[in-house]
Amino acid sequence: MIRPQAILLKNGRIIDPANRIDKKGSLLVDKGKIQAVFTSRQKTPSFPKKLLSVDLKGKWIVPGLIDMHVHLREPGEEYKETIETGCRAAAAGGFTAVACMPNTNPVNDCQSVTRLILEKSENAYARVYPVGAISKGLQGESLAEFGEMKQAGAVAVTDDGKPVTDSQLMRRALEYASSHTIKVISHSEDFNLSRNGAMNEGFTSTSMGLKGIPHIAEEIMVYRDLALAGYTGSPLHLAHISTKESINLIRLAKQKGYPVTAETAPHYFSLTEDAVKNYNTSAKMNPPLRTQQDLEEVINALKDGTIDVIATDHAPHSILEKDIEFDQAANGIIGLETAVPLALALFRNGHIDAARMVELLSAGPARILGVNGGSRSIGTAADITVIDPERSFILHEKDIVSKSKNSPFIGAKLQGRAILTICGGRITHNLLSA
Ligand SMILES: [Zn+2]
Ligand SMILES: [Zn+2]
Repeated sequence: MIRPQAILLKNGRIIDPANRIDKKGSLLVDKGKIQAVFTSRQKTPSFPKKLLSVDLKGKWIVPGLIDMHVHLREPGEEYKETIETGCRAAAAGGFTAVACMPNTNPVNDCQSVTRLILEKSENAYARVYPVGAISKGLQGESLAEFGEMKQAGAVAVTDDGKPVTDSQLMRRALEYASSHTIKVISHSEDFNLSRNGAMNEGFTSTSMGLKGIPHIAEEIMVYRDLALAGYTGSPLHLAHISTKESINLIRLAKQKGYPVTAETAPHYFSLTEDAVKNYNTSAKMNPPLRTQQDLEEVINALKDGTIDVIATDHAPHSILEKDIEFDQAANGIIGLETAVPLALALFRNGHIDAARMVELLSAGPARILGVNGGSRSIGTAADITVIDPERSFILHEKDIVSKSKNSPFIGAKLQGRAILTICGGRITHNLLSA
């Protein structure tokens, strides 16, 4: 197990949107906590004797990134990913915390599974926040015990992977969750419209001879869940938003003051349905990659605050599920190790500034989940990510830390990456000398 150590991060660009800080400075980590943040003109604090000192000129020192939507596959599908390997992948991508979805085997729908996940993550390279199920066994029939799961450490509930088809059950989930102050996350999909679909419905799906998933399959459920959140007054978070009309609906709901938040994933602002044209199953996901118009609206929504968070929906699958015919292949791609360069592209292209990017990947998810982190106040746990916005690399399959390699970005040249990840004062990823 790696130990916390004293680290001095010198002369970096300190970006901390929660504290409205964006300045050059240095940061001292010791005993697992942030002990001092200071500029060259301020009095230097006294340093511990044994100290790792690194010069970070031109690099960003940001609060540890938090991915509020990952699938760690443990328990049940350890051949795709484990809590340990998923957290190593998280650290390699610059994340110090992840929230893991409940569609494991067994499903995380009770306190014993929540506890098991937390026990297994004790020495992991990232903090793990379990998300419990809305319905028992993800069956969509009766509610799981939210109170018990929360007590055991769950931070939210969702049936992610499946929609909650029964509107009355979703209404009760929102009311019940609200009374336990735990957030409901919606996987918004009208299954009757999307069933058996393999990609976005449109000209491309027709020309490829594949059954499409229409954008309304997402939007109808987004509308229903926004309406339920407005009606009940209960907080709701919408997962993986991918379409223009979903964003219009969220924007309207926010204007009305509904207690709603939303996330999108890096692939929805980086790729369009064109990425599946060669029947590349590594670009098959649900919701599917959409059109250029949708992509542009996702970027607008990240800019104007309609979307609050970038989360990867990291979904590891082995070649058993992916190296098969396109319409039979499993949905989902890994995302932890490519999120930073993809989000940085938004910054480089002038869509968002550095502080907004950091907010979308740290302060935003911390606020929505109600967990620590997302800022770097003195005395708080030393969860820190150092980003080199200029460092470019080619994503080689052999370098992927995640146990699964289902990424559409393999072979791509990516610019910018996390070069140092510190979780609770422990170095969990280090490319400083690479
Ligand atoms: Zn989902
Ligand atoms: Zn998911």
